[in-house]
Amino acid sequence: MGTNGFSGKSVNEEFRALMKKQVNKNFKYLMIALPLVFVFVAVVSAVVCKINDTNIGVSVAADVIALIIILVIFIVNIIKYFKNLGKLKTGSIDGTVTKLDMTAADLNSTRKRAYYKIVIGTEDGKKITVKNDKAAPFYRHLKKGDRVRYHPGFVFPIELYDKSEVNVCVFCGKENDASVTECRVCKNPMLI
Ligand SMILES: [Zn+2]
Repeated sequence: MGTNGFSGKSVNEEFRALMKKQVNKNFKYLMIALPLVFVFVAVVSAVVCKINDTNIGVSVAADVIALIIILVIFIVNIIKYFKNLGKLKTGSIDGTVTKLDMTAADLNSTRKRAYYKIVIGTEDGKKITVKNDKAAPFYRHLKKGDRVRYHPGFVFPIELYDKSEVNVCVFCGKENDASVTECRVCKNPMLI
């Protein structure tokens, strides 16, 4: 059995340092992954050109397009990262769920992708929207009117008020038993 209510841990300096570490780690992985994606594209395009006996210029053109796309993703994520660090310095906001949305889009006949949206109405009348990957782990544990706490800058930024059934890790988004103090997957502290 877990307990209901918001945790006091989220303001703890040690806890916030661990969150910053997680944000840095995720950013580092992405920065390593992007150049690898480019190398992969370059190799595949060169091989395809060779097999089809196409002019190597086609391969180079594909590489340039891939490079531009990857550079854009790179820049967007660097901006996101610094914004995220800024958000981590701001306080948490209490509110209630005012809207829950899930739409499934067909990628093709066998694969579907779901888009999630959770809208939180704050006590001073503002609206906070949490979307997609950041919203997905919380979606099925929430209904309209539920109390939540929004933690700006956290990897998974929602804290459930009702922790009687389940608690969601704000570091990795995995579900844990309500009474658990350390996440079973990432070993970071749970908000309890
Ligand atoms: Zn975790």
